[in-house]
Amino acid sequence: MSQSPKFSSQLSPAPEGLRVDLLDRYGLFINGRFVEPASGEWFETISPKDQQPLALIAQAGIKDVNKAVQAARLAQPKWAALPSSERAKYIFRLARLLQERMREFAVIEALEGGKIIREARDFDLPQAVQHFFYHAGWADKLQYAIPGVANPQPLGVVGAIIPWNFPTLMLAWKIAPALATGNTIVLKPAETTSLAALMFCEIVQAAGLPKGVINIITGDGQTGAALVNSKVDKLSFTGSTSVGKMIAAQAGDRKITLELGGKSANIVFADAALNQVVDNIVDSIFANRGHTCCAGSRLLVQEPVHDRLMRLLERRMQTLRIGDPLDKNTDLGPINSLQQLKVIQDLTASGIKEGAEAFTTRTSLPRKGFWFAPTVLINVTPDMRVAQEEIFGPVLSVITFRTPEEAIQLANNTPYGLAAGVWTNKGSKALKVASQLKAGVIWQNTYNRFDPTAAFGGFKESGWGREGGLAGLRAYLKEPKQ
Ligand code: NAP
Ligand code: MG
Repeated sequence: MSQSPKFSSQLSPAPEGLRVDLLDRYGLFINGRFVEPASGEWFETISPKDQQPLALIAQAGIKDVNKAVQAARLAQPKWAALPSSERAKYIFRLARLLQERMREFAVIEALEGGKIIREARDFDLPQAVQHFFYHAGWADKLQYAIPGVANPQPLGVVGAIIPWNFPTLMLAWKIAPALATGNTIVLKPAETTSLAALMFCEIVQAAGLPKGVINIITGDGQTGAALVNSKVDKLSFTGSTSVGKMIAAQAGDRKITLELGGKSANIVFADAALNQVVDNIVDSIFANRGHTCCAGSRLLVQEPVHDRLMRLLERRMQTLRIGDPLDKNTDLGPINSLQQLKVIQDLTASGIKEGAEAFTTRTSLPRKGFWFAPTVLINVTPDMRVAQEEIFGPVLSVITFRTPEEAIQLANNTPYGLAAGVWTNKGSKALKVASQLKAGVIWQNTYNRFDPTAAFGGFKESGWGREGGLAGLRAYLKEPKQ
């Protein structure tokens, strides 16, 4: 289609200057200190940009998991019995210490997870800090949190499992509300992004948190499964729908929060401001390389503007810089893991086989590491796999529609229900359409806006319960007796 603008190649490299010294290996953080795993097992964590080994990480076995849960169990009554203003002080301390060290965390996220430093620095870390501040504010006001409940009670020990796409932010989403409500926690980060959580343990120590209140156990899915099967009182999981379903089946009568996948629709009406739309499409699907549960991965475009919008999008995509996530000018870093790269490659190939047409950025990708160029699939029909399944990568499926009714029908034609976007210059149309969309979060003329005070979560296979805001707080408290 259009000519490639010169802009992207003219920028000089702008590498992040901060170096973070890593240890050769990291043990498990149980009862306030790092310990060797009883399992005796370790695994290597690498950088996805060049597969460079970074450190060895402990693989927690069943014994280790139970030890961590026991430490959290012993610490919980004292933690809950502290004056609530004291609990608040500890959480404020975590917030401030994390704020002071945000840059180091951003470097670690870029190095180990492949997220671009700009996103880690400007989005993930500030959001994580805000989450701690927000929940510190609630810790001594819980009696006002739930109408009719004067003395809300914690659940006990929380078992939390998080994914690799927002390593520090997801940790904050679990730890902050758990602690504010008087629970203690055992958290397992994802196998490919353990380092941020391990660095957070230094903050836990620096904040002087009582031993056992926060425990971090590293490992793969088996460690996660052992945590689910342990004696924790509450399960809080963010990850894939398939694992989420298994956890729901094993939860018994324990309270659960599940934040799962999505295939969110971004609906563009012909009367929308297309230049603004293009920038937001880029953000909604290519931010974090599409490794975002609420990514606007299905673009529904009203027919009359489809061709123009695609021309604008293709032109805009040529300005995207793909490369070193530690360079401040980079827009897309590497895919987080080889496993995820294969999922993205397979699903994209299936779309093309089923009749979709692809356009992409005309840049060469680095040879080493896990790379995938941002891709747009047009002529997608609702029955194709790329219209139904979560790709969790930088791939956008474009479908056209004629009437608002058809847009709503297409948007809701998914097993998921996490987020949606509506683009129009008519407020009444946006509200009318939004009211009929089955999605937990709906953005109007914007996308990917977050706030710790606003509840986030999905319908159908996108999950169970909400995180953030008052609804998120309630998920960590006992329900009032009827
Ligand atoms: P995943 O395989 O479900 O992994 C998520 C976490 O669960 C990881 O820590 C993982 O360990 C662990 N795990 C794996 N198998 C387990 C088992 N049998 N029992 C207990 N824990 C287990 O998901 P993923 O593929 O890594 O992450 C991408 C998915 O997460 C996408 O579908 C995305 O939509 C979803 N997600 C949702 C949200 C949200 O807020 N709704 C946010 C982020 C991601 P490993 O480290 O070994 O993988
Ligand atoms: Mg996994």
